[in-house]
Amino acid sequence: MSQILLQKEREETGDVDVTLKVMFCGICHSDLSNINNYWGFSNYPMVPGHEFVGIGTEVGKNVSKFKVWDRVGVGCLVGACHSCDNCSRDLENYCPKPIFTYNGTYYDGSTTYGGYSDIMVANERYVVRIPDSMPLDACAPLLCAGITVYSSMKYYGFCEPGTRLGVVGLGGLGHVAVKFAKAFGMNVTVISTTPNKEKDAIEHLGADTFVVSHNQEQLMAVMGTLDGIIDTISVPHSLLPLLGLLKSDGKLIMLGLPDKPFEVPVFPLIFGRKTVAGSAIGGMKETQEMIDFAAKHNIIADIEVVPMDYVNTAMERLAKGDVRYRFVIDVASTLSKIA
Ligand code: NAP
Ligand code: ZN
Repeated sequence: MSQILLQKEREETGDVDVTLKVMFCGICHSDLSNINNYWGFSNYPMVPGHEFVGIGTEVGKNVSKFKVWDRVGVGCLVGACHSCDNCSRDLENYCPKPIFTYNGTYYDGSTTYGGYSDIMVANERYVVRIPDSMPLDACAPLLCAGITVYSSMKYYGFCEPGTRLGVVGLGGLGHVAVKFAKAFGMNVTVISTTPNKEKDAIEHLGADTFVVSHNQEQLMAVMGTLDGIIDTISVPHSLLPLLGLLKSDGKLIMLGLPDKPFEVPVFPLIFGRKTVAGSAIGGMKETQEMIDFAAKHNIIADIEVVPMDYVNTAMERLAKGDVRYRFVIDVASTLSKIA
C-alpha cells in the first residue's frame, strides 16, 4: 500500500479563491487505483481525495459566490484552461488541460494535493455550495460518484420517466446511480456479481429488478429490454452479455476505469445499432445542478464514516468490495489524532 501523506500547508487564499476547512472526504475507487499506480501516472508523495466538503474559512477579495462559514464542496477538478471550446461550454471536465484535485499539476507547475487533508484552497469556479438540508458527510461522495452518474444520465438521455436503465456494479457509483435513476422516474435493473445485495437494492435503494451477472436464467429474462446501461465495474469484463440486455439503439456507457483495455464485440453492436461510449465526471455548473437536484430529491450516499487512521484498512476493504457503499473519512475530528 502506498504511503498517504498529510498535507498541512497550502498556498494562501488568492483573490478568487475559497479556503475551506475539510470536514468529510469520500474514498473513491479511483483513490485506490491512484495510490497503487494502477493507471501508470501516479506521482508521489500523494494526498488523495476528490470528493470532500467543509466550511469556508477565508475568501479572496474578488470572490463573488461564497463567504466565510458557507458549506462548500470540491470534486475532482481545481482548474482548467478556461479558453478552449469545452471550457466555454462549462465542460471543464473535457478540457484538454484539466487540473485534477490531486495527482495533478497546478498552473505554477506545483503538484496538487487532495482532500485527505485539513484545509483546501480552490478557485471559486471549482467550489460548489452545499444546501443546508444536506448532511455534510453523506453528501461528500456526490462530488465525484454523484456527478459522474448524473452527468452521464443527462447527456445520454437516461433521465426520462419510464426509460429502462441497467446499472452494472452496485458500489459507490452504482448505488447513487440507482437513487438518481429512480428520482428521474426510470425503471432500474441492477446487474451485480453479488447475490446478497439483492434485498438492499430492491427494498432500500428502490431498484425494480436485480440480476446476478453469472445467472444465465436471470440474464435471459432481461435480454433485449434495456434502453441504456451504466457500467461502473473497475476491472476488465465481458461486454457481450451486457450488449445482449440492450434493445436495438441501446447505449452501454462505461464509467468504470479498468487499468487494461478489453474487447468490444462488434457483431451485436452492428446488428442492433448499439452504442458503447464513456463519460467523465461533469462540469462545475452541472455539478452544482446535480447537488441541488440531489437536495430536492433527498439523495445522499449510503456511507460508512471512518477515522483517518482507518484509511489503509478502508482501502483494503474497498479492494475486496467490502463497503456499503462508500467510505467517508471524518477528517475534521480525526486528522489531528494522527498528525
Ligand atoms: P466500487 O465502490 O469499488 O464499486 C465497483 C463495483 O463494481 C463493486 O461494488 C462491484 O459491484 C463491481 N465489481 C468490482 N469488482 C468486480 C469484478 N472483479 N467483477 C465484476 N464486478 C466487480 O467503485 P466506485 O468508486 O463505484 O468506482 C467504480 C469505477 O468507476 C472505478 O473504476 C473508478 O475508478 C471509476 N470512476 C470513474 C469516474 C468517471 O468519471 N468515469 C468517476 C469516478 C470513478 P457488485 O458487487 O454489485 O458486482
Ligand atoms: Zn472519484
